[in-house]
Amino acid sequence: MKNSRSTQLFQEALKTIPGGVNSPVRAFRSVGSDPLFIKKAAGCKIYDEDGNEFIDYVGSWGPAILGHCHPTVVAAVKAAVDNGCSFGAPTELEITLAEMVTKAYPSIEMVRMVSSGTEATMSAIRLARGYTGRDKILKFSGCYHGHSDSLLVKAGSGLATFGVPDSPGVPADFAKHTLTAVYNSVESVRELVTANKDQVACVIVEPIAGNMGTVPPNPGFLEGLRELCTQEGIVLIFDEVMCGFRVAYGGAQEVYGVKADLTTLGKIIGGGLPVGAFGGKKEIMKHLSPAGGVYQAGTLSGNPLAMTAGIETLKLLQAPGFYQDLEEKAKFVAEGIAKAAKDAGYPIYSTRVGSMFCAFFSKEPVYDWDSAAKCDTKAFATYFRGMLEEGIYLACSQFETAFVGAAHSQADLEKTIAAAAKCFKAL
Ligand code: PLP
Repeated sequence: MKNSRSTQLFQEALKTIPGGVNSPVRAFRSVGSDPLFIKKAAGCKIYDEDGNEFIDYVGSWGPAILGHCHPTVVAAVKAAVDNGCSFGAPTELEITLAEMVTKAYPSIEMVRMVSSGTEATMSAIRLARGYTGRDKILKFSGCYHGHSDSLLVKAGSGLATFGVPDSPGVPADFAKHTLTAVYNSVESVRELVTANKDQVACVIVEPIAGNMGTVPPNPGFLEGLRELCTQEGIVLIFDEVMCGFRVAYGGAQEVYGVKADLTTLGKIIGGGLPVGAFGGKKEIMKHLSPAGGVYQAGTLSGNPLAMTAGIETLKLLQAPGFYQDLEEKAKFVAEGIAKAAKDAGYPIYSTRVGSMFCAFFSKEPVYDWDSAAKCDTKAFATYFRGMLEEGIYLACSQFETAFVGAAHSQADLEKTIAAAAKCFKAL
């Protein structure tokens, strides 16, 4: 595969952009190569600066559920540009998208738009703290909720350990308010809540973990969190930035039938433009400024282009059978890859919920961060580079989710399985 232009651009980028990229995971470091520079994308195909074409399973890290450049979305955004890119004043578009979100998620009675998933989770946490008057928050090891200070923390050693910052620049004094529990273990949450009685403002969880690979919730996990949070007066936040509108129109809450107090959204609801949102019970949301005292703001919040792309995307997702078709595609490719691995004598642990899937390079089941961390990341890196050579663009880390979109055709999926079969045989 020719990649001289990408290599040249990366060298140039390194001079003016830290690490050559504007978000760390794009750098391909964990798979031991340099990033490809992308020129354009259409449908499920993505094209780099050297003219290579790939079948894309990254989908801009989740938003591209319709594929890239859906003509209806593109036309609507082009028309919206003619009306102005940003006003810093309310628009009818914001009401339309808010109503679509509240209709899709019965637990969301009110919603506020922001510009990224990070802003959504950061603001939801501030709101939970302001509402409860408590400082501590509880998250799960291996769950990613964006890069705000409180959330860049994972478990130290042992369940009762207070948080330690994962990044220089996050004060330890601040991180100590973040408790970290074990994904899929209600017991680990109960222990921390008991040890910090009446101090925990919120539990924030990816109801389908997508940032340690794809890890579905075990039966009873989300229900257990719901019960505990209700008992203890803790705000339960489902971070559906990734799985919202992805696994079903009503996200994880529709699939598992468990309601959160607050929900964070992003990615798909912006149709590829920068968006985030958080919403939930009126009783909690009314504490948000200017209705209440918890401050939150944004120059570009509710941006008309992003609202337009979101509205058009959500309309298309309501087509009859949309999610069923998507699920069938994802099942076909995920099972095909797992079978290819098995046939090559290289068994993997395959997970999938709706159109999110992951091939864990592990013979053992993966159900939390510790079991995910045991994967053979070196073998994954070899597989990743092999797949790229075969024209398949996967996320450049074992601990990411692959996304199937409506634009993937049967031929694309079959080509992907054939490529995987070749790559597993070569391992
Ligand atoms: N929450 C989850 C579950 C995510 O997957 C992400 C990003 O991948 C975020 C929050 C942060 O969103 P953003 O990158 O838009 O800030």
